[in-house]
Amino acid sequence: MADGALPGAEALAEVLADVRRYLGWHRDVAGEELHASSDGALGAIAAAVSVEVTVDGSSTPPVVVEYREVSAEVTPSAVHPPSAPRQAIRSPSPAPEPVLVRDSDEAPRLDEVRRTLGDCKRCKLCSGRKNLVFGVGNPKARLVFVGEGPGAEEDNQGIPFVGAAGQLLTKMIAAMGYTRDEVYICNVVKCRPPGNRNPEPDEIAACQPFLEAQLNAIRPSVIIALGKFAAQTLLRTDTPITRLRGQWREYVGVPLMPTFHPAYLLRNPAEKKAAWTDLQAVMGRFPKPQA
Ligand code: URA
Repeated sequence: MADGALPGAEALAEVLADVRRYLGWHRDVAGEELHASSDGALGAIAAAVSVEVTVDGSSTPPVVVEYREVSAEVTPSAVHPPSAPRQAIRSPSPAPEPVLVRDSDEAPRLDEVRRTLGDCKRCKLCSGRKNLVFGVGNPKARLVFVGEGPGAEEDNQGIPFVGAAGQLLTKMIAAMGYTRDEVYICNVVKCRPPGNRNPEPDEIAACQPFLEAQLNAIRPSVIIALGKFAAQTLLRTDTPITRLRGQWREYVGVPLMPTFHPAYLLRNPAEKKAAWTDLQAVMGRFPKPQA
């Protein structure tokens, strides 16, 4: 499109890309049934947008871009403050192993943290695991997602979020404009709790220093805590996730957004709208830098 052909066209394209990702997420994940029930959870979806796009000096006839479903809450990020500078994250808890402690500000690298964790037997979860699930993605990611703990599929593969909840997380990440390779994904506990039960306090306590060391190594610009265990562990609070979600918090100086866990969203699809609002808040404050 030629410059000036359509005032605001770039902003509009941004909105439409946002809308496309949002609708795609709902359609892909929840199926047509939820998508169609716009009088329910998606009640805000209403207006139709139809835009005629012309290209200056081109013989191509005008193209009409039409979106029938647009959430009134889907807006481009108006304010794009610069990302917080990367700085060493000082863990609020004592490091469990001397090798994780450095005299200087220099943090251990992610591979060093993994090496220190080793063939971990620090808690009882080790006895039932097939694979320890450390984390996956970009060791210098700006965006880190923290979940609860591996399920059966993650335990089989040794990779976090590859089961049903993982597929939803992958779509959430894509809806934010990222690939899994660009972000980092890990869990509070690195070994599968038997039968997918909740991780117990001693198991969380054994793993927490390694989660903190991972975050310290990565030094992300922003952390997204997926569900109660991630949010409560990192924020050291008992506040329910229903009250934490959507509110900016800090983990040792790093902005942290608590939101619902993808597994919860699979069981409660009506809450996806709230989760999307949370992810949009992250995108608004930390827009993806242009390549
Ligand atoms: N749920 C989690 O919290 N983490 C995973 O890796 C998979 C499911």
